[in-house]
Formats: sequence, structure tokens, C-alpha cells
Amino acid sequence: MNEIKIFSPASVANISCGFDVLGVCLNNIGDEMVIRKTKKKGVVISKVHGDRDIPLDNKKNVAAISASSLLNKISINHGFEIEIFKGIKSGSGIGSSAASSAGSVFGINKLIEKPFSKNELIKFAMEGEKKASGTAHADNVAPLICGGITLIRSTTEIDVINLPIPDKLFLTIIHPKIKLKTSDSRSILKHKVSLKKTIDQMANLGGFISGLYTNDFNLIKRSLKDVIVEPTRSILIPEFYKIKKSAIDNGALGSGIAGSGPSIYAMVKGEKKARKVGEAMSEILIKIGLEFNLHVSEINRNGIKVLSKK
Ligand code: ADP
Repeated sequence: MNEIKIFSPASVANISCGFDVLGVCLNNIGDEMVIRKTKKKGVVISKVHGDRDIPLDNKKNVAAISASSLLNKISINHGFEIEIFKGIKSGSGIGSSAASSAGSVFGINKLIEKPFSKNELIKFAMEGEKKASGTAHADNVAPLICGGITLIRSTTEIDVINLPIPDKLFLTIIHPKIKLKTSDSRSILKHKVSLKKTIDQMANLGGFISGLYTNDFNLIKRSLKDVIVEPTRSILIPEFYKIKKSAIDNGALGSGIAGSGPSIYAMVKGEKKARKVGEAMSEILIKIGLEFNLHVSEINRNGIKVLSKK
């Protein structure tokens, strides 16, 4: 095999009570990437389609950074070129950098006949994330590599748990067209958290995970709360609380900041309701004249997908 084409999906990290530890893979929004073997060693980003802000430089493009960290671990006498077709806007909060960081190492691993485990691929992909956001987090790349909803228990020794997905669980995501860099929205976070808030957040995370295991939508709804990060970060997102309230008033189980924003997610049971929630969220941004993209997605159980091979 000399060439592989993959679909690398968008993802929503954090999910309210799961700051830096929960991530969900989406279905119908993502990037495509074509990875080809080349005679010359190393990695080259040959072209990026669909987003002019993304660098080609292989010291700056996260797809090349994660690929290089993989290539440093093996000895082969050829290299790779990567062509990226962006479907996810960078700085949108739904894992644009993660799609590239994880997609390149997933694709290269297939081309070299899979010597690396999922955990090793997550570790390489985290190097790309470190470049994009300043910290090597795994909550976007893990659900891409493992599929579904993942809990990142540890990134020192990679320990990722695939959580069960109740039937008919959908995410509605509204992306107000303003750019928010993960590195900027991380820089405003408070580094000291009270014991009371820590206890509340742990209780909600436990409740959410328990709700997933027992198909208890009411428990999921009671648990989708973020008392630590949302109060600080929400100030960066126009009409955040109005949008969140409209989602919940229209039947969402919960709503919060997608990743580091500005996208806002709502978790909803059933596709029809997920679309209704999307309409309600949209109305708020229409009123203030802010352009947006809207996505309704079932949870993608499989993660990155191979589209073709040659
Ligand atoms: P998102 O949460 O949507 O991934 P980030 O702010 O985390 O947004 O990442 C985007 C940053 O990473 C931008 O500065 C962008 O230029 C940079 N970047 C470098 N390579 C890529 C790539 N292949 N895809 C997306 N963003 C990239």
C-alpha cells in the first residue's frame, strides 16, 4: 500500500463535568486526509485545502508534528506527504487540530502495517495537540483513535476507557463564527479551585459516567454541570447562557462549552429533539446577527475511518 485516504472526525472535549478528561467523537463533520509514501525521508505537508490560516511548515502543522514523533520511533527508508482537506474550522472548539494530529499518525500506522497500539498513537497525537494549545491533552485525540465516548484517566501512562453510549444519544453543536484559540481560552483559567467545587465536579462526573452505564438519562441530565471552568470561560462566548438555557428549555439533557469554545454543545436524546434544540439555539444568534454553523450528530462509535487505499 502506497497511499491511504481517511476521514478524521470532529470531536467535543470537556463535556461540562469532564474538563480535560471526557471526549466524544462526532459522525458527520470532519477532515479528509490523503497520506502518500515518498522516496524522501521525513514528513511534508503538501497542501491544506479549505482553511488558509493553517501553516504548511512541518514544525508548525500539527499533522506533521505528531507524524514526526511517530517516525522518530522507527527506522524506515522512505517518508510521507500529507494532503489535508479541512472540514473543521480551526479555533472552533470541535477538535480541528486533533483531527490532523490523530489522522496523520492513524494513517501512517496503517501504511506501515500497524506496528503501534492505540495508546502509542494517542501519545504521538498528543505532541500535535501540545503545539496547538500549549498542553499535551488527549481528550480530543483519544475519541478519534478509540471511537465513541472516552474517559482519559491518565496521560502519563496512557489510560483511556471507552464508555458505553446509550441509544439515540445526539450532540447538537452551534459554532458562532468567532475564533477562539485553545491557548488563549486556557490562559484565562484559574489555577486554584475550592474544595467545595472540586467535590461537586467529581460527584457530577461520577454521576454522568454512571448514567451512561445504566442508560439513566435523568441522571445524565442532573450530572451535566461544570462548576469549575464554565463560569470563567463563558465570558468569551457571546450569549452563552441564553443559548444554553434555550437548549435545556427545549429538551436537551445538558449544554456547555464544546472544548475550549466558542462552539456550544447540547446533549440530546433523539434526533428530532436534537434538531429542535439546534433551531432554538440558532434563534439567539440570529437575533444578535452573529453568523454560525450548526451541526447535529449521532456519536461516532468507530472514530477515524479509512476511505480508500492504493
Ligand atoms: P481547535 O480546538 O478547533 O482544534 P485550536 O486552537 O486548538 O482549535 O487549534 C488550532 C491551532 O492549531 C491554530 O493556531 C492552527 O493554525 C494550528 N494548526 C496547526 N496545524 C493545524 C492543522 N493541521 N489543523 C488545524 N489547526 C492547525
